[in-house]
Amino acid sequence: MPVVFVGHGNPMNALEQNNYTRGWQRMAREMPKPRAILSISAHWYGPGTAVTIAEQPKTIHDFGGFPAELFAFDYPARGEPQLARRVQSLLEPTRVESDEQWGLDHGTWAVLCHMYPDASIPVVQLKIDETQPAEVHYTIAQRLAPLREEGVLLFGSGNVVHNLHTYAWGRHQPQPFEWAVRFEQRLRHALKERDDGAVIRYEKSDREAMLAVPTPEHYLPLLYIAAVRQSDDDLKFPVEGIDGGSVSMLAIQIG
Ligand code: ZN
Repeated sequence: MPVVFVGHGNPMNALEQNNYTRGWQRMAREMPKPRAILSISAHWYGPGTAVTIAEQPKTIHDFGGFPAELFAFDYPARGEPQLARRVQSLLEPTRVESDEQWGLDHGTWAVLCHMYPDASIPVVQLKIDETQPAEVHYTIAQRLAPLREEGVLLFGSGNVVHNLHTYAWGRHQPQPFEWAVRFEQRLRHALKERDDGAVIRYEKSDREAMLAVPTPEHYLPLLYIAAVRQSDDDLKFPVEGIDGGSVSMLAIQIG
């Protein structure tokens, strides 16, 4: 299986049809259909590592200030406890809790509802341990590589540039900020050159990185994808664009 990172952006994308959502639909059409999905979303970020173990994970509406229609949105994909247990054993000796409380957050369903609208593919989420640095995420993610041979789609969901302080809400689309464009270009270059060190150590003390990645949670899912890249994998950017001036919608497909 290929592995993908998607920029999920505004949760309203779940209800809309736009260039980003059409891009996600196209990605799913052009990829082999996965048997199951392991999602690493920016929105499950807290102390410790965990996997969702529920047979029927609930749709979580983890945001405020959006229309009732978005709060009513349901993505009824099944879970797969067997895959959750497989992830726990692959990640050993890292301790991975079995979580019954979390379900699917909007980082997962706002994109998967376009890629796989019939919700027929089981989805398990993996929590990102906020206490660990980028290097550790990359290292543990390497242990997930065998899942690619087992028909599981590793699905990272975040945004490689994500600054909501400067984001323009509403209809007006401003020009992207120069620092947003430059940081995204720097990252694309590192991926093309297979310079994983630069992808991991994005957090240089320069102004671009501080503005582009003010907090790590939307960036870290990318490391779970970059870490399982094989030497003969292709690299594609199937969705591009910077939304609201400061949120990169870049999607990255490896393999
Ligand atoms: Zn988000």
